[in-house]
Amino acid sequence: MKVIDIINDAVESGRTRFAFELLPPLKGETIGTIYETIDNLIRFDPAYINITYHREDIKYIERADGLLERRIVRKRPGTISIAAAIKAKYGVEVVPHLICGGLSRFEIEAALIEMDFLGIENVLALRGDSLKGENKFIAHPEGYSYACDLIGHITEMNKGNYIDCEIENCHPTDFCIGVAGYPEKHMQAPNISTDIQYLKNKVDAGAEYIVTQMFFDNSKFFTFVEECRKAGINVPIIPGIKPFSTKTQLTMLPHIFHVDLPDELVSEVSACKNNQEVRKVGVEWAVAQGRELIKSGVPALHFYTMGKSDNMIRIAEQLF
Ligand code: FAD
Repeated sequence: MKVIDIINDAVESGRTRFAFELLPPLKGETIGTIYETIDNLIRFDPAYINITYHREDIKYIERADGLLERRIVRKRPGTISIAAAIKAKYGVEVVPHLICGGLSRFEIEAALIEMDFLGIENVLALRGDSLKGENKFIAHPEGYSYACDLIGHITEMNKGNYIDCEIENCHPTDFCIGVAGYPEKHMQAPNISTDIQYLKNKVDAGAEYIVTQMFFDNSKFFTFVEECRKAGINVPIIPGIKPFSTKTQLTMLPHIFHVDLPDELVSEVSACKNNQEVRKVGVEWAVAQGRELIKSGVPALHFYTMGKSDNMIRIAEQLF
């Protein structure tokens, strides 16, 4: 089932659905860690599960002669196969993420063909971040600079148009495309209205719904939705919630994701004696955010779990 149909059903029934995001295991770990998390959360009837995509990383290895060798590593491969395995094992809808970073358009197309053959109907189309050490995003020489271009590619495949196709009357894929939105602006956008204009381009190119970056102050989300509607973006916008879990996130989250933390949250987390207490504060904050968002009628809440289910269970028990 497509995510957009799940969302439309949720709107019609007035029931806010639970959705969450998982990371593929680190290379060398087993898929069992993913299954363990899902086993703990499946009773809350997730509408769909997202699986993130991780581009290559650069690693420097010191050689015997003292020189540094630059190696390209992929720490978390397997997004598409994990998505297919989850769908087969649990019968739940899956949304693999796909990025532009590090991939040529031919590799992107091959990945989409694989998803289609595996019966995957949903994809979250993203640009991805720069590589470590690069101060701006550099597209693959045969790839895409913006998520919008990737969406255009998927939309063409949905019409049966593949790159350099050898055969006539190609099988049209039928992907439902989701995209990312940023209530507090994407870090590289000059201002929020420009960012929203680019978001509109993604919708015009074929995106059917938006999932937001995490935010900790719901008023940021409500204002963002209002601004999107004014800009003519009419697709559903799903809020993304990250349960706070460690003290270091006080500096790390604003640094990595360019989000603002409300004073009240900062003082509650600062007063915690250990991360066990922080996780408790994180659960309470996420539940309060979730309650207000559900009351406002959002069709789903998208949780950034980072593969941890202990806090998610406590949140889901109170919300779903
Ligand atoms: P885009 O929509 O392409 O926007 C990137 C920047 O370019 C923005 O500043 C935008 O304003 C600007 N822009 C857009 N179009 C143009 C244009 N035509 N001209 C000039 N500027 C333009 N990253 C991963 O690597 N893997 C994941 O699995 C992943 N999952 C994510 C899930 C969610 C819900 C979110 C919110 C983010 C996720 N990310 C993931 C992070 C994401 O890849 C980064 O935030 C990335 O920097 C931007 O991706 P995007 O798709 O929003 O890019």
